[in-house]
Amino acid sequence: MRTRFAPSPTGPLHLGHAYSAILAHDMATAAGGTFLLRIEDIDQGRARPEWEAAIYDDLHWLGLSWPVPVMRQSDRLPTYRAALESLWTRGLLYPCTCRRRDIQEAAQAPQEGGAPLMGPDGLVYPGTCRVTPRDGPMPLDQALRLDMRLASKHTGIIEFSESGSGPSGQAGTVRVDPNTLIHEIGDIVLSRRDMGTSYHLSVVIDDAAQGITHVVRGQDLFDATAIHVVLQRLLGLPTPEYHHHTLIRDESGKRLAKRDDARAISRYRADGDTPDDIRRRIGL
Ligand code: GLU
Ligand code: ZN
Repeated sequence: MRTRFAPSPTGPLHLGHAYSAILAHDMATAAGGTFLLRIEDIDQGRARPEWEAAIYDDLHWLGLSWPVPVMRQSDRLPTYRAALESLWTRGLLYPCTCRRRDIQEAAQAPQEGGAPLMGPDGLVYPGTCRVTPRDGPMPLDQALRLDMRLASKHTGIIEFSESGSGPSGQAGTVRVDPNTLIHEIGDIVLSRRDMGTSYHLSVVIDDAAQGITHVVRGQDLFDATAIHVVLQRLLGLPTPEYHHHTLIRDESGKRLAKRDDARAISRYRADGDTPDDIRRRIGL
């Protein structure tokens, strides 16, 4: 068994991160497997070296260890680019120049009918740029979207195995049909103009590169899993097992976000908590 914890170095780790990391670590250790760490720093506008240093410090303090060198996504842009090129060559991508406001307006246009649907990445893209020609070299200065109609023709019904649970209790073998992929997920962005990749593309390529057998992460990413399985099918990568866990919430029931610095692991540590106290707080 190989599990991983894949934080973005854009703020302090909080109790929710501690839960994900310790659970992934304990699952691998109990099975005699390996726990890996990966730094998801493709958003170079928000990633900071001091947050990366704080991640190592917090996780070591919690008693976790992992093989080094640690995989860092900012080192892997050529690998992501090669995967994009292969999708582009097969006509599965198209460039998109829409701004957020264009998408809101198009999604609300009356001819679309009904209320605009929210997908894993926000509003389901209304398809404005899908008609753009896809011949010639892959444009690098524009966002690239996956044509989900074409992609789902290749994949058919996708499935993955869930050993935790989704937000509505989904567990066991989870199946997603092309209709759902097209209408509830839609043409997601696989490469952002200023990044040369996206969370979805990088996470799929890197889970495969690290030989991850079990992806342990919060339920907030359950809906993105269908996207990840589509990409695994298109890129010929294996599908790991998934274990989505419930989210740690504060006293008012609100889920913790990175900006909730009051819940930072380092804060509890500074206030005198031991690593065991942290485990107790999150019920592990
Ligand atoms: N980097 C993501 C985050 O910090 C997690 C990615 C994943 O576990 O798939 O939210
Ligand atoms: Zn567009």
